[in-house]
Amino acid sequence: MATGTLTIDLDAIAANWQALNSKSDASVETGAVVKADGYGLGAARVARVLARAGARTFFVAVAEEGAAVREALGRSAEIYVFGGHMAGDTDMIHDLDLIPMLNSINQLTRHFEALPGAPFGLQLDTGMNRLGLEPAEWAAVRELALSQAPRLIMSHLASADAPDSPQSADQLRQFLEMTDGTDIRRSLSATGGTLLGPQYHFDLTRPGIGLYGGMPFANAKPVAHVSLPIIQTRLVAPGEVVGYNATWTAPEERLIATVAGGYADGLLRAISGKGSLWHDGVACPIVGRVSMDLITVDISALSEIPPSLDILCAEQGVDDVATTAGTIGYEVLTSLGARYERKTIGGLA
Ligand SMILES: *Cc1c(COP(=O)(O)O)cnc(C)c1O
Repeated sequence: MATGTLTIDLDAIAANWQALNSKSDASVETGAVVKADGYGLGAARVARVLARAGARTFFVAVAEEGAAVREALGRSAEIYVFGGHMAGDTDMIHDLDLIPMLNSINQLTRHFEALPGAPFGLQLDTGMNRLGLEPAEWAAVRELALSQAPRLIMSHLASADAPDSPQSADQLRQFLEMTDGTDIRRSLSATGGTLLGPQYHFDLTRPGIGLYGGMPFANAKPVAHVSLPIIQTRLVAPGEVVGYNATWTAPEERLIATVAGGYADGLLRAISGKGSLWHDGVACPIVGRVSMDLITVDISALSEIPPSLDILCAEQGVDDVATTAGTIGYEVLTSLGARYERKTIGGLA
């Protein structure tokens, strides 16, 4: 086996969806965000396990991502597209029965002209200044847009992962101001907002990262496990250096393992000389630079040489690796890439 193994725990995904679903009242629907190929774990398999867990409403970033999800789920699931209705999307939206979240007056015009009567949602900007109609635009088109019976009105919180930030309450106030009295289903919260409390839930929540085992859902079950086969080991003498640019020097004799996996596998170069790989509860420090396909690891603490070392495992989750790399779990997951042998566990219930 020459590549790393990425094992995806489908039961953990289902359990995370159920745990997030239990954070809101029974009257609130819990959707599922499966954009970016299901946060890098495979949109089709992830969508199927979420549907079996009870999810009925799915979200993707762009219309192209809707194809795999529609194929996996059949006609009954609702699939929303955050990016809305872009030029060139019309056939895909129609043929795959996708629901674009219309973000601008341009998109409203395009949708109503190209696909009159076809379902749509509306995204409002409540202060993040990323996607959605601004309050003044909304005021101008509100009556017309509502007369076309949108399926959903949503906005997105910028700081929901920081419960102390006053921005969420500001955005909530703005969202209420823009949508009270509309009688249309509303959605404001991703994973972070779902954990902020019932006033953030409205009719539908849209968790993503929490389903895949990432913060800010601290109680999430880990989903992704990665182990990397050891290709070679060598003893290095005191004073010998390891890896590109000789950034690590052995202080004494050490046993170094070279594993198959590197930054081309999403194992970010920023963990060079900082992170650890694990075996049986023992941390083995990364020494020297992470290269494209290889990582060098000090395994002197191990009593024997194992066939592989773990980088995502019980002792070290996506957020631990992210913290070492100076990034977030979302980036670690979605970076993992195509070179792993991918396996799943569970998901058969
Ligand atoms: C990505 C995204 C989500 C899911 O966010 P998580 O933080 O992963 O739960 C929800 N809504 C929108 C608009 C998004 O872009």
